[in-house]
Amino acid sequence: MLYKVEGIVIKTVPYGESNTIITLYTKELGKIGVMARGAKKPKSRFTSITQLFTYGIFVFQKGRGLGTLQQGEALSSFRKIREDLVKTAYAAYLAELLDRHTSEDDLRPDLFGWIKQSLEYINHGIDPEVITFLFEMKMMKTSGIVPELTKCVSCHSAEGDFSFSIREGGFLCERCSYKDPYRIKISKGSAKLLNMFYHLDLARLGNVSLKKETKKELRMIFDAYMDEYSGVFLKSKKFLKQLDELS
Ligand SMILES: [Zn+2]
Repeated sequence: MLYKVEGIVIKTVPYGESNTIITLYTKELGKIGVMARGAKKPKSRFTSITQLFTYGIFVFQKGRGLGTLQQGEALSSFRKIREDLVKTAYAAYLAELLDRHTSEDDLRPDLFGWIKQSLEYINHGIDPEVITFLFEMKMMKTSGIVPELTKCVSCHSAEGDFSFSIREGGFLCERCSYKDPYRIKISKGSAKLLNMFYHLDLARLGNVSLKKETKKELRMIFDAYMDEYSGVFLKSKKFLKQLDELS
């Protein structure tokens, strides 16, 4: 059967001497793997369409196995991401995160919207660290591992000074703080931001500007929490950390 889909290349793997297997996240079919025959040959008509992050229209033939790319038209290549090592590193992390937290059988048009919008924001110069927090939050919701960030995980009080408990899975108020001696102390500002990130619709993101220390605090919480619950190791994450240590 012949399919025509709108999608974004979230992974590319060389196959044999001249082929590339691309993983697309599409609006119509969710995640799907497609073989682009001859894509690695010089002058192949698939060269640009099979680059990581390319957003476009893809036409492929598919029976039982892997689909075969017939045609492609790039609508955006997110040029400013490609030209910038840091932006590329963040975008690669989002793409890998999406790939590792989804399977080919579930159809999630909202996730297509999220990856497309996230790449657009990064391409337009919005802070990739902020986009990454939001995207990670969305992935945690998708996988059913999102922490409680609206109230105390134990007594459900929505008021007070919260700390963050990895073990209990979210905010703990002062009265319940004894439940986790390893809870992470967080500032009121960070607690507010976590709550905001939890509720925020990506399409309505304004110009969020965060202080370096705030981002550091949030990053520590997200990393510790995801290490504990997500159960996946991402190569792109390791690279991001190395970049961070250099800066
Ligand atoms: Zn409590």
